[in-house]
Amino acid sequence: MKSIPLKRNLTEIAAHTYDLLVIGGGIFGACAAWEAAASGLSVALLEKQDFSHSTSANHFKMVHGGIRYLQHGDIFRVHESSHERSALLRICPHLVHPLPIVIPTYGYGAKGKAFLGAGMTVYDLLTFQRNTGLQSSRRIPQSRFLSRGELLRHFPGFNSTGLTGGAVFCDGQMYNPPRLALAFIRSAVNRGAHVANYSEVTDFVMSGNEVVGAKVKDVFSEDTFEIRARMTLNTAGPWAHRLLESTLGIALNPHPTFSRDLAFVVKRRFDGPYGLALSSGTKDADSIVDRGGRHLFVVPWRDYTLVGVWHKVFNKPPDALAIDNEELEAYTTEVNQAYPDLDLSVDDILTVNMGLTLFGDEQDQKAGELSFGKRTQIIDHQKEHNISGLITSIGVRATTARGVAEKVTRIIIKLLVRKVRRSDTHKQAIFGGDIPDIERLQNQAIRILCNDLHRDSIVPLIRNHGSNYLKVLDCVRDNPELKKTFMKSTVIKAEAIHAIQEEMALKLTDIVFRRTDLAVASRPDPTALRDCVEIAAAELNWDDRRIKIELNEVHEVLK
Ligand SMILES: Cc1cc2nc3c(=O)[nH]c(=O)nc-3n(C[C@H](O)[C@H](O)[C@H](O)COP(=O)(O)OP(=O)(O)OC[C@H]3O[C@@H](n4cnc5c(N)ncnc54)[C@H](O)[C@@H]3O)c2cc1C
Repeated sequence: MKSIPLKRNLTEIAAHTYDLLVIGGGIFGACAAWEAAASGLSVALLEKQDFSHSTSANHFKMVHGGIRYLQHGDIFRVHESSHERSALLRICPHLVHPLPIVIPTYGYGAKGKAFLGAGMTVYDLLTFQRNTGLQSSRRIPQSRFLSRGELLRHFPGFNSTGLTGGAVFCDGQMYNPPRLALAFIRSAVNRGAHVANYSEVTDFVMSGNEVVGAKVKDVFSEDTFEIRARMTLNTAGPWAHRLLESTLGIALNPHPTFSRDLAFVVKRRFDGPYGLALSSGTKDADSIVDRGGRHLFVVPWRDYTLVGVWHKVFNKPPDALAIDNEELEAYTTEVNQAYPDLDLSVDDILTVNMGLTLFGDEQDQKAGELSFGKRTQIIDHQKEHNISGLITSIGVRATTARGVAEKVTRIIIKLLVRKVRRSDTHKQAIFGGDIPDIERLQNQAIRILCNDLHRDSIVPLIRNHGSNYLKVLDCVRDNPELKKTFMKSTVIKAEAIHAIQEEMALKLTDIVFRRTDLAVASRPDPTALRDCVEIAAAELNWDDRRIKIELNEVHEVLK
């Protein structure tokens, strides 16, 4: 696979007229850029901060297989999620793997084995094609049961009153969400797309009632540019409708409601591979089958356990997103009520992940019963507001971003009146994902590199970079010092150099939070941070004042 480095050049971007300009470098924008480039369109993508700095890096990492939508009777979403889970397991096996989840079973009613077993059989039948083209370690097994004893062995101290065992279904899990978005962006660039981070769209360029591009501000220099495009796609997530209101004066109807979704990360609590679904106190207003409260999940992820997800309607600007200790205390109490032996306290929380996701109608939300966002909104502004050349797409789940990109690109191609080849991004490996067998690649890498790198660094290197991992080590030839890790972390110094030279990391926060595992779920060691900023300063010509600013920004995020 080609490995074209990401180079930021707004002057060059302003010199072109693109088929498609994508606004926003979260997972939805990243997938759209890849889909459009793979379909043969000329594409530019602009992101006002760093790629995937927002919700797309701060979620629960699940790749939903759609089984829960059976409860809503939503067969469309069952198919959509299962299809996208398979696609991700196929096209980036290094970044997505299967995740088995246990639902505890009780008695003979809606929480019993017979009832759940019937649902799981329907699900398995509906998704019978889920393993097409998947390597063995990435296949989704049939749903099955655990005995009571097995469940308690995996989850010691779990409330055993009335427990009959557990039903096991399988979702997928992302190893590294920001690197997943980056892999889509790099795939697009390999197909000729131009991308730039720290480039904020401030307005649209109009020709009568037609959007013909966007005005862009370089966040570093404050220089402004006009980027020309035949079509513009607004994938600015929770900023999307605000951008439309502030520039074109148009309001979406219905007005999108967002939820502050929140999950947190604690040290690994269980050794086994299973996640656990716990019944919470909140009801799901859309469910057609009442099985008690909504599920909270406690799932393993690397050396950690993820706990979530909580939802709260939030209609302030995204930059006002906040959480206080009281709320965190309420959330840990809710988990402890469902599983007292977990004995979680706010002090156990290493990282809070939160962001805004599209929610159901605000009017529908009753106390203790929440109606969730179901479908991604795709708006053709020609139809809705008599403004041509502009589409807005606001996504609900990162899982479906590739599939949504496929739909949106088809609409765009139709509007461009263009005959193009049909893309096959559901089976075409993305950047770093051309790996016939991930286990074999990992073992091979351990054999090749074991004299130079510790095993603890090799596995994340493969999982983060996939087939491109040797490219990360290019700089080591000239400077063997770069094989060393940053203090106690698993990150080798070459990864920071690679992030700057190949992956458009322009700030210390980009390297620390999104390109490497330096702050994967906990605070980076101060010496590691110091070493990293020195490497970045040498590469990016930072003086002492800039070094101080960059370190402060990292500390600000860690607060
Ligand atoms: C706690 C939590 C848990 C979740 N769990 C899951 C899960 O397990 N599985 C799942 O599938 N989904 C999950 N989600 C949902 C998922 O995270 C979102 O659906 C997805 O990340 C949205 O991506 P996006 O690209 O639309 O938005 P964003 O990631 O917000 O990206 C939008 C981008 O647009 C940029 N932008 C905005 N305005 C401009 C402008 N004027 N110019 C240029 N750029 C601009 C922003 O800077 C931002 O980077 C979860 C969400 C949360 C918060």
